Amino acid sequence: MHPPILESRTFSWPDEAACERFAAALAAEPALRRAGIELDGPLGAGKTTFVRHLLRALGVSGRIKSPTYTVVEPYEVGDLAISHFDFYRFSDPREWEDAGFRELFAAPGLKLSEWADKARAMLPPPDLRLAIEPQDDDSRRVTAQAGSVIGQALLAAGARA
Ligand code: ADP
Ligand code: MG
Repeated sequence: MHPPILESRTFSWPDEAACERFAAALAAEPALRRAGIELDGPLGAGKTTFVRHLLRALGVSGRIKSPTYTVVEPYEVGDLAISHFDFYRFSDPREWEDAGFRELFAAPGLKLSEWADKARAMLPPPDLRLAIEPQDDDSRRVTAQAGSVIGQALLAAGARA
């Protein structure tokens, strides 16, 4: 079951530079530091690309790998903890406990999740959901849904991008 949506907005990313500007605008919003964000969309939509631009804007300097095989990649910038999840290969609910995902989600910091539907029963409701749809011209139509006041602050920040 999906949680209630407080506010929804649609954005267009004509190219990857627009995705990068959107990510930078979110990175500048203090509420991001305690946000849970879900990235939806088909393979190649730009979920990982958005996360890379977001992490770079936050000051992550090393290699940013897609967590497709590891399910989670952790980062730290200053006192901010970031967990980037990709649940594409997640199938065993026991892994949620065994791999420490419960602790990661309970800890403070920023959580970014690709393919959240594959771990739906485990996941807390997100503050923000971005559904990225590639268009025929390579642009992206992005539906952003806020599920909390944190999400609403991020929506407002994205609208200023
Ligand atoms: P996903 O994680 O959703 O499977 P990726 O981020 O790995 O997708 O791949 C998205 C690809 O689309 C990248 O090669 C990126 O450069 C490209 N791309 C083209 N246009 C855009 C755009 N407007 N926004 C984001 N990515 C874009
Ligand atoms: Mg990806």
